[in-house]
Amino acid sequence: MSAAPSAPTPPAAGAADGVRFIDLDGAARARRRLVEVMTRLRGDGGRLMGLLLVRLHKLRDVRVTYGEAALRDLLDSVHQRLAAVAGRQDLMLRLAEDELVLVINGLRFEEQLLFALEKAERLLARSFAIAELAIKLDFTIGAAAAPDAEVSAGELLRRCEVALLHACSEGRRTSCFRDAADVRRHTSRLELVAELEEALYRNELQIVFQPKTALETGELAGVEALSRWESRKQGFVPPDVFIEVAEQSGLITDLTLWSIRQAGIHYHAWRQQGLTIPIAINLSPVALHHPELIPQLTNVTRIWGLPPEHITLEITETAAMTHPERNLAAFRRLVDMGFRLAMDDFGTGYSSMEYLKNFPLTELKIDKSFVQQMSRDINDRKIVRSMVDMARNFDLQVVAEGIEDQEIHELARNLGCRYAQGYFIARPMPADKLVEWARAGARCRQGR
Ligand code: C2E
Ligand code: CA
Ligand code: CA
Repeated sequence: MSAAPSAPTPPAAGAADGVRFIDLDGAARARRRLVEVMTRLRGDGGRLMGLLLVRLHKLRDVRVTYGEAALRDLLDSVHQRLAAVAGRQDLMLRLAEDELVLVINGLRFEEQLLFALEKAERLLARSFAIAELAIKLDFTIGAAAAPDAEVSAGELLRRCEVALLHACSEGRRTSCFRDAADVRRHTSRLELVAELEEALYRNELQIVFQPKTALETGELAGVEALSRWESRKQGFVPPDVFIEVAEQSGLITDLTLWSIRQAGIHYHAWRQQGLTIPIAINLSPVALHHPELIPQLTNVTRIWGLPPEHITLEITETAAMTHPERNLAAFRRLVDMGFRLAMDDFGTGYSSMEYLKNFPLTELKIDKSFVQQMSRDINDRKIVRSMVDMARNFDLQVVAEGIEDQEIHELARNLGCRYAQGYFIARPMPADKLVEWARAGARCRQGR
């Protein structure tokens, strides 16, 4: 590669007679000029204008590690590769050192934008030969398109910026917005992330506990901690929704660490009221590998006197099987420390016997989708029976989830399940209600 110029240069040989390149400087000014340029370019017909906004990450690392000249070479190469995505009527502009825009003019179909986006992603994902090394670039691309006559240049740029933010917040490399509804949906998602972060910071989430009982005796065997969120702006947000938002935004680790603390606090409070209740906590795969997990668990056992054998960590089958090798090491570490491990939503993923054999599990929780239909569907009964047999062979406790009525309760018992969880036994409830519920005793629950 040629000697690095002091400022980014237009794409070199071959590309020079293709895309025109304008180097802008100063973020706000650059954005203003971009909108002016886009406005001038727009026609009044039914064509679409498309934008690709490319953000390059960790350029500072490249500069520090490989030096200024290598960084310049890298940026040149990025320009050249992006130029290959553009046509004669298109423009490439630099908004900042780490941000480039490709204005794709006169599109007839939205698919052309998707095509350009995929091509840009493919080209930038290939390694760059810089300073005799193969450097991988970390980047994100937001894309948006809109008809010339309908959406102003400023609004189109905003949509593209939201698309970029959306991709970043979900840990994805690209995101494409086609219309205003996309923007609304994702703006509210981004707002939800910001609100959830705030709620966690202000300690505004609640925790509820759902009992797990022994099927034979009705005795309380433990509880599962479940989070609840009443958002200030949006009201009750279903757990499935905010857990997914938390997982995609990385907030799940904070939420898990918070749940672990709550488990300790409530375990201690129950002990003071004469009750010893083991607690299960849901663990997302992100939290499983987070460096704070083990220190937090250790703190809780020390501060609140919650012994590790009274904490069961639940991980879904799908999550456990996604990176089984990597997970296995983390599981072993937790089990060596005395914690118990449950495989949650069992039956909904694809377990390999090889891993099941090696995972240091203590419990299998049969997913409620099999349990709920058992009284009507003979196949579900057969499936549950074989899961119970298999769990016994592996020496695991079996919990049937989603027990909603007496008939299913009986069936689960007859099929050999030892433990049960479900609305028929109890719905998730706040910590103080649980004390009343536990005191009401096993006898009155048995065979309700
Ligand atoms: P899960 O781990 O499978 O939790 C059991 C879910 O089944 C709970 O839903 C519970 O309320 C519901 N359930 C219990 N018994 C019955 C029943 O008889 N019938 C029916 N139809 N449902 C029943 P919830 O509380 O809405 O939580 C949904 C999921 O969100 C949980 O599924 C869990 O994966 C996740 N979740 C909830 N709280 C947390 C948390 O603090 N951290 C993490 N990582 N995940 C959480
Ligand atoms: Ca669970
Ligand atoms: Ca479950």
